[in-house]
Amino acid sequence: MTPADRDYFARITTLRGSVVTIPGLTEQQAQAIADQHGPTERPALTADKGKTTCGRCQGAGGWEEEVRSKSSGGSEVVTKKWVNCRPCGGTGQVPK
Ligand SMILES: [Zn+2]
Repeated sequence: MTPADRDYFARITTLRGSVVTIPGLTEQQAQAIADQHGPTERPALTADKGKTTCGRCQGAGGWEEEVRSKSSGGSEVVTKKWVNCRPCGGTGQVPK
């Protein structure tokens, strides 16, 4: 493979865990985005001795739930709402 000018991409993990990829960047652009967003670590989810991954949310700390509501026009509107996991309180870790 030959190196191309626009062979770089940025991959950003959002707070909700979605991964967004931005292709077609120059090295400088990709680096600028990486610097801006930094390592996407979630300190609340670091491994803790004496605790184990929550089986209810698989360590995610919660999940998206569909919320259905009727609009004034009578049509159904479905939105997604983040729900914190109750057993682990949104940390993704529970005591062993
Ligand atoms: Zn949980």
